[in-house]
Amino acid sequence: MTPLKKIPIECRSIGLSYDGGKTEVLKDISLRIEPGEFFALLGPSGSGKSTLLRLIAGFNRHQRGELLVDGRDISATPPHARNIGMVFQSYALWPHMTVWDNVAFGLVERRMSKAVIKQKVGAALELVGLSQYAQRRPGQLSGGQQQRVALARTIVIEPQVLLLDEPLSNLDKTLRVQMRQELLALQRQLGITTVFVTHDQEEAMTTADRMAVMEGGVVQQVGTPAALFDYPVNAFVAGFVGTTNLVQGEIAAGTGNSLSFRAPALGELALPATSADALPGKATLSFRPHTVKVARVGDACEHRYFWLDGKVEHGEFLGEFVRYHVRVGTMLFAADQLHHASMPGFTTASPIRLGIDVSQIRILAA
Ligand code: ADP
Repeated sequence: MTPLKKIPIECRSIGLSYDGGKTEVLKDISLRIEPGEFFALLGPSGSGKSTLLRLIAGFNRHQRGELLVDGRDISATPPHARNIGMVFQSYALWPHMTVWDNVAFGLVERRMSKAVIKQKVGAALELVGLSQYAQRRPGQLSGGQQQRVALARTIVIEPQVLLLDEPLSNLDKTLRVQMRQELLALQRQLGITTVFVTHDQEEAMTTADRMAVMEGGVVQQVGTPAALFDYPVNAFVAGFVGTTNLVQGEIAAGTGNSLSFRAPALGELALPATSADALPGKATLSFRPHTVKVARVGDACEHRYFWLDGKVEHGEFLGEFVRYHVRVGTMLFAADQLHHASMPGFTTASPIRLGIDVSQIRILAA
């Protein structure tokens, strides 16, 4: 298949409500998806991901704002005139048609010649590795193969944009992991701007160039997976992209290079005054379990950590590491310890010391 022109998608202050303006499902969405990007919309169920995706496809209509594809406002363009391909969670294949006819369907509808259809369907099936299954019906294929038929049927029309609505959620875990790599390889090969909806943060992080985290119809943050993981802007993003410990407290005016953070759970903690938005007042600290050092009482404690004494409530064995849930006063903290064979662990109720790496603490708006 010929490489496609890579085009950008831009949402400008988009607002959408289903019930005549009473409840806004999308609130002032502004984001730009770069040409050729593999972009994920990530968020919990009901956050507005599918509504936004369907809006790009033209199945939903926004009441406010602009939707630009390749620089042109297509808000009033009907779905069939948008040149956008969408793969649904359910695949929506025709059960009575062969794989070949399913893939050819869109081309037949567009009244292409038999020779062109033959060439394009052949190429699309080859691209998804299903040439030898052309004469089967969808019911005679595995879930992963059906997914690939749905993909072939979408890309065969050579859309400018590929939209994927939870495309892997019907597959079992092993297949999902394999298919997400296939999907990414295919996207890279075609260079097609792709928007991918998922509620699975691992799926988004392992595939997306960048992602938007949504909650309550609002884009909370946009960035690369690493940027969102390392520098979340609020407690929602910190907790949704990975696991985190949150401590609420108050920042007092700093002296020199440090800020003083006070929380009933921790006492007073000196933080490096590197965060420009860390103004005096209420704030929440976030630090990830893998950045917390775990030590026995009596072990030498490095000075660069802020040490807390606690008691293990329980440990979760996850293979590569053990995640300890540790009671410190009224708080429960999660701390990870890398695991190796025959390494002694901490049992429930053991005293334990947690070393918080101050450089890994993020200050979030309260
Ligand atoms: P997500 O894809 O993140 O799970 P959706 O975009 O499907 O979220 O839904 C966002 C919100 O819009 C939800 O509260 C949902 O109940 C509501 N919603 C979705 N579709 C409709 C509809 N056709 N009519 C009314 N409300 C809807």
